[in-house]
Amino acid sequence: MRIVLLGAPGSGKGTQAQRLVARYGVPQVSTGDLLRSAVARGTPLGLRAKAAMDSGQLVADEIVLGIIRERLGQADAAAGYVLDGFPRNQAQAQALAAMLQGIGQPLDAVVLFNVDYTEIARRISGRRSCPSCGTIYNVHDAATAGITHCRNCAAAPALTQRPDDNEQTVTRRLAVYEEQTRPLIDYYRQLGLLRTIDAQGAVDEVTARLIAVLPQPAQPAQPARPRGRKAVRRVGGKAAGKAPRKAPRKAVKRRAAVKRKAVRKAVQKVPRKVVRKVVRKAAARKAVRRPAGKSGRRPVRKPAGKTPKTARARRWGR
Ligand code: ADP
Ligand code: ZN
Repeated sequence: MRIVLLGAPGSGKGTQAQRLVARYGVPQVSTGDLLRSAVARGTPLGLRAKAAMDSGQLVADEIVLGIIRERLGQADAAAGYVLDGFPRNQAQAQALAAMLQGIGQPLDAVVLFNVDYTEIARRISGRRSCPSCGTIYNVHDAATAGITHCRNCAAAPALTQRPDDNEQTVTRRLAVYEEQTRPLIDYYRQLGLLRTIDAQGAVDEVTARLIAVLPQPAQPAQPARPRGRKAVRRVGGKAAGKAPRKAPRKAVKRRAAVKRKAVRKAVQKVPRKVVRKVVRKAAARKAVRRPAGKSGRRPVRKPAGKTPKTARARRWGR
């Protein structure tokens, strides 16, 4: 699963990326987070990025592409990732495409988060994050109103506000988004990768909309079944082909024995020739029902020429 989350600053990409990480087990790759970490560690790259970040400008492509290349090359990104905050301009989008084409791993989808500017201002001004685990909270949301300390960490560290989440820088960031990032909407639409969601409303609602537009994984992760109970196909509210669970064992055994005896008697009355014929017919019926051998599945006929639409979805499982 390789996807890009596209949207203005404060549109909720980071929050939703964390949800996808939990659901699909692929890492979130946020250039903003990677750059902030470089700044915090005082690396040469961080020192170069800091001025641009503090003023709400984009960091130089060369720096961003360097960190992306390194990050996507790490082992945990082999099965996919959620790109958040990258690409942010045409040059980055093209560099990403070339990078992925080189290794034969194209993107599966690009999701655009639609949010109006009033809501963006509210979200950014209320945004706080945990310096330890990175969880994002919002002091304006009902569930986390006035929150000051992390609920996820045992030590409950005080939440911090990003230095670039101030009014002046936010205005600049929005202008940069309009000018440099917005054109990527058309770019990805033309590539047939774009999906758009309404990113307003409760976090859970947005997550549901997001998941609904993503190509579904080939083999969805089965929720763990409670031990000791087998999944039984239900037909009309009853378990198909099974004795009621609660029936005492002895009674069930007795009934089965009686039934077997009755069948034996009935069969004895019928001439052997007829029995053999019935058995052969039943076997033939079974064979017709299962033409693909043991699996019981019908052979899938592939449309000639173009790759089937589901090819993208199939790549997900890897
Ligand atoms: P937001 O999306 O809320 O603006 P981010 O955490 O994604 O915040 O980014 C914060 C800052 O980091 C940006 O304003 C920019 O300076 C820098 N940055 C992040 N990603 C990129 C990128 N792909 N290219 C250039 N600069 C970036
Ligand atoms: Zn925390």
